[in-house]
Parts: sequence; structure tokens; C-alpha cells
Amino acid sequence: MNIILFGAPGAGKGTQAKELIKKYEIPQISTGDILRGAIANKTPLGLEAKKLMDQGQLVSDEIVNGLVEARLQEADCEKGFILDGFPRTVAQAEELDKIMKKIGKEIDKVIALEVSDDEIIERITGRRVSKVTGKIYHIKYNPPVDEKLEDLEQRADDNEETVKKRLAVYNEQTAPVLDFYKKQNKVYEVDGAQGLENITKDIIEILEK
Ligand code: AMP
Repeated sequence: MNIILFGAPGAGKGTQAKELIKKYEIPQISTGDILRGAIANKTPLGLEAKKLMDQGQLVSDEIVNGLVEARLQEADCEKGFILDGFPRTVAQAEELDKIMKKIGKEIDKVIALEVSDDEIIERITGRRVSKVTGKIYHIKYNPPVDEKLEDLEQRADDNEETVKKRLAVYNEQTAPVLDFYKKQNKVYEVDGAQGLENITKDIIEILEK
């Protein structure tokens, strides 16, 4: 089960990935999470990435391709993996094809979560992440039940100004990646504006088809 969760920032990729990793016991590979980890550890890579991420811009293809190539060869990817936030450019998708060929694997399905731009802005500006558990919440639509509000934080790039920039980058550079996979007949579209459980149900149905 080698899959890509595809969609605009805030479409629900991270939230759905968390459900799927529980069910299928395969890892979520989020390039955004890996980069935020590098920032938290103040590595040279993190310092370089932070400036771009805070502006809503993409980090270079070379950097993220290298991170993903190394990560895909770790033992826990043996049974499959969920890519979240990668590939984000056609060049990354082309490189991913090469990496997969090299390690004797193939991307099976690309699940595209469809959500309108207006909804994305509302979702991202209300998004909060738990410092304790890493769980993703929305202050209005999905508030925490078992966790304290003071344990939640907002990502540095989840403010309205940066979100608009990230959406523009998505529409220009990332949306064309979908056509790349449509040509390979790998794309399955899911209505990402439904309730969380229905989205998960639709994804599972596609994965088990
Ligand atoms: P995300 O957590 O997926 O929303 O990613 C947060 C930020 O990390 C993005 O706005 C980019 O600056 C950077 N980033 C994450 N994944 C990639 C990628 N595949 N290519 C380039 N930049 C990325």
C-alpha cells in the first residue's frame, strides 16, 4: 500500500493520514513534519527551510527529494507508506518515480482531497496542533475533548497572510502534479468537505477496491 495523500494545505491530509496509519500500520511520511522537526532541532537544514516556510514558499526540490529518498528506504516502509505533502511539484513527482523504480516499488494510488479555497482559509486559521500528542484540532469544528486548550499551538505558517501565499503556491506549482498522476490513472478524488469520518470511509473504500 504505497499511497499519496494529495490536496491543498488544510485539505485534511495530516488528519486522514493519522487515521490510516492506525488502521493499516504503515508510516505517514510528511515532509512538512520532517522539516518542522529540523527547525525544532535547529539543524542547518532547519534554519534554511524556516525562512521559506514562514513565507509560505516551497523548500527546494533537492532538499525534500533527498529527505524522502532516505525515508522510503527505512524498514518501516516495507509494508507500505502514506506520503503527505510530497510530491508538491512536477519535478518532485518525476524524481519520486525514479526513486520508486530504484527501490523496486510503485505508487499505487493518489487520493486527492477536494476542498474549496474559502473553506481552506477558515480551516487553516482555526487549526491548532497539540504540543503533547501532535493531534490536529480545529478550534471551532474539531475542538479537543481530552486535551487542554493551553496544550494547543498554532503553526507559524497558519496565519491568514501566509495561507493565501501557500494557496497561490499550491495552485501554481502543486495542482499540476495531479495531471501527472491522472496520466498514470492513479488519481481517486474524495470530497474533502464532508465530515472527518465520511472522508476516512471514502478513502478506505478506495484503498480496498
Ligand atoms: P505542510 O506541513 O505539508 O503544510 O508543509 C509546510 C511547509 O513545508 C510548506 O509550506 C513548505 O514550505 C514546506 N514543504 C513541505 N513539504 C514540501 C515539499 N514536498 N516541497 C517543498 N516544500 C515543502
